[in-house]
Amino acid sequence: MSNLKKLVWVYDQVIPSSESALHYYDVIKDKDAYFVRYQSKLPSRSFKRATGFATIEDAKAWAWSHYQEKMQPYVKSTTLADAVTMLVDACHGASVKGGWWHDIATGEPLQRNKLEMIALIHSEVSEAVEGVRKGINDDHLPDYKMEDVEMADALIRIFDYIGGHNLLSANALVDKLAYNANRADHKVENRIKDGGKKY
Ligand SMILES: [Mg+2]
Repeated sequence: MSNLKKLVWVYDQVIPSSESALHYYDVIKDKDAYFVRYQSKLPSRSFKRATGFATIEDAKAWAWSHYQEKMQPYVKSTTLADAVTMLVDACHGASVKGGWWHDIATGEPLQRNKLEMIALIHSEVSEAVEGVRKGINDDHLPDYKMEDVEMADALIRIFDYIGGHNLLSANALVDKLAYNANRADHKVENRIKDGGKKY
């Protein structure tokens, strides 16, 4: 959850106040302790209290953890999708910059052939097979195994393909992982049975 923006506290009449995307928070002194008064931003929600903090900083820390907890359902999936989107941007961006998406004579945008691009992804994976079979190092990047580099080549081509065709693969990847985690034919107790998936 570290990618959430920290709560910013402002002091309105000495009361530290803050707001997240979901809640308003105030830290209020009550005798020798502090409590957090908080309220959902959804319509018609009443104030709630979290009590018993020795210091203002303790109360603020509670508000921060409350905010992170409430954001869990939203940030869990977007974090992974964001990571994929970054890879798509990096690989497709490099490819566009390298001139692979334009006619190099005229500068006109190219309509890339999808099947040709998929075939080239196949070829990188096949080169990885050769790398595993021979156990040799890569000829362009000799500090790495051929297997390392060919798998990287395959990923670069896949992310370029996704970016160049505006596919929704970043979100699809998150949804498919979640789907696979729950599907019966992927559960160990079913895979071990006769006819169960071995690979
Ligand atoms: Mg290669």
